[in-house]
Amino acid sequence: MKKLFLIIGAPGSGKTTDASIIAGKNENIVHYSTGDMLREEVASGSELGQTIDGFISKGALVPLNIIIDTIISAIKNAPVDNILIDGYPRSTEQMIALDELLTTEDEIELVSTIEVRVSQDVAKDRILGRAADAKPGEERSDDSIEVFYDRMKIYTDPLAEIQEFYTKKNLLTVINGERELEPIVAEMEEFIKSNI
Ligand code: AMP
Repeated sequence: MKKLFLIIGAPGSGKTTDASIIAGKNENIVHYSTGDMLREEVASGSELGQTIDGFISKGALVPLNIIIDTIISAIKNAPVDNILIDGYPRSTEQMIALDELLTTEDEIELVSTIEVRVSQDVAKDRILGRAADAKPGEERSDDSIEVFYDRMKIYTDPLAEIQEFYTKKNLLTVINGERELEPIVAEMEEFIKSNI
């Protein structure tokens, strides 16, 4: 049985950093970031990558079929059974698509959706800090103040519905993401390890 943990959070919440540290420390846990997987496809220079780039550079969501294919292939090809996916779902449409998929999949259990919660001000400071610290060639096309507000709105618009959906299923776990990295990672790791 594959055990799936979804990690959601505003841009700049630190969700990808948190999840990759946890996977790095635990051989039985693997982590995929939807943003990283999509950026890898863009970097490959494929035709699909060019299509994806058109959405990412504007801070827009890539279409449902692309993101669903991305996460399904990550789950199916995961080398271990405990899987963290950060950056999904980002819309009610994505949430429902995964929920329907999971009803037909006996081998995958959604254990929890973990929300890394930060205020808009903290998210903005972190994103602008990341943009200022990026090494030449490693800048993200979407880490700018102009795109930040669009990305934030895209994140917050469906959030209440996503929270309600998973709360009703008793699957929502909220972690305060406004602390130092260490206590956030420790809390998330402890939660994940006690549920696998
Ligand atoms: P992130 O690295 O999580 O901030 O994601 C960067 C960008 O990748 C987003 O602004 C979207 O353009 C795209 N993206 C990431 N996850 C998703 C998703 N679940 N659905 C659609 N687009 C996504």
